[in-house]
Amino acid sequence: MTPKLVGRFAPTPSGRMHLGNVFSALLGWLAVRSAGGKMVLRIEDLDPRAQHPGLARLLMDDLQWLGLDWDEGPVYQSERKQIYENALELLKNRKLVYPCFCSRAELHAAKAPHASDGTYIYRGTCRNLSPAEIAEKSRLRSPAYRLRVPELGKPKELVGFDDLIWGHQEKHLAQDCGDFLIRRSDGVFAYQLAVVVDDGAAGVNLVVRGRDLLGSAARQIYLAELLELPIPRYAHIPLLIAPDGRRLSKRERDLDLGVLRAKGVNPARLIGGLATLVGLVSPGTEALPADLCQYFDWNTLREHRKDIVVDDEVLQSLGIYR
Ligand code: GLU
Repeated sequence: MTPKLVGRFAPTPSGRMHLGNVFSALLGWLAVRSAGGKMVLRIEDLDPRAQHPGLARLLMDDLQWLGLDWDEGPVYQSERKQIYENALELLKNRKLVYPCFCSRAELHAAKAPHASDGTYIYRGTCRNLSPAEIAEKSRLRSPAYRLRVPELGKPKELVGFDDLIWGHQEKHLAQDCGDFLIRRSDGVFAYQLAVVVDDGAAGVNLVVRGRDLLGSAARQIYLAELLELPIPRYAHIPLLIAPDGRRLSKRERDLDLGVLRAKGVNPARLIGGLATLVGLVSPGTEALPADLCQYFDWNTLREHRKDIVVDDEVLQSLGIYR
C-alpha cells in the first residue's frame, strides 16, 4: 500500500499572502487532497524579523477564505529552536559542521565564485581552522555554522532526485553551493536545516513549492540523509512573474490578499483562474479548491511548467482589475 500523502503549507509570515503564495498553496493542496492525503500548516517564522503573530493569524484567515484547509498545525518554527539545536549537535558530534567567521562582505565579494542562479559558492575559508584559530576568532565574533559537503568526486557529493515536474535532477553540492549554512552568526537557524527537520518531524512526504527553490532540494536531501530522515518527493511549480520579468512578490502590494479581499475579489474566480493558468480547467471556470480535486493531474502540470507572466489580461481572468 502506498503511504498516505502528507503535504504542507509553509508560509513565511513576512507579509500578507500574495498571488504567488496563493498559487503554490492551491497546487500543493490539490496534489495532496486529490489523493486523499493530509495537510500540515507550518509558519516559517525562524527569523525574528518575520515574527508577527498578527500576520500568521491573517495568513490562516486568508487560507480559510480561499477554501484551503489543513489537518495539523499551525507549527511555529520560532517555538522549535531546541529541536534545531539538537540536530546541530548531532551534526557537530559527527564533525560534519564547523564554525565559520567570514563576514557578509567576504562572502559576497565580487571575486567569490557564484553558482548559475547567482548565489555564492562558499570557498571553504574556515573549513580547516585549528582549535587555536577557532578560539582566537571566537573572542572577536560569534561564528555561523556550516555543513561540510563532500569534495567534488567524493562519495555522496552528487545528489540526484526525481522532481515530479522537472524529472531527474542532479546537483554537485561542492560546485553548486559548497559548505552551506546551518545556523547564522546571530544564532538564527538556517532555512535549510529547519525545513528538513520540520518536514521530517511532521512526516511530510510531498513538497510542492515554487521553482525558485528547486536549487535547494539537493541540499535538503543531503541533510535529510545525514539526519536519517525520509526524503520527501518534490514538485517545483512555475513562478508567477511580473511583466518586467521579476518574480511576483510581496512588493506588489496591490496584489496581496489584504487589498484583493478589500476590493471584493471573488475567491471562486481567483481559484478557478489560477487553476486555468496550469491547464487544469478551462478558462472562465469559477470553483473553490474542493471542486477542483477531480481535475488535478501531474501530466497537465508537467505540460504547463513554464513561468507565468501575470499581465493585465491574466489579472482580469482572475477577477482582478487594477
Ligand atoms: N517558507 C518558504 C516560502 O514562504 C517556503 C519554504 C518551502 O516550501 O520549502 O517561500
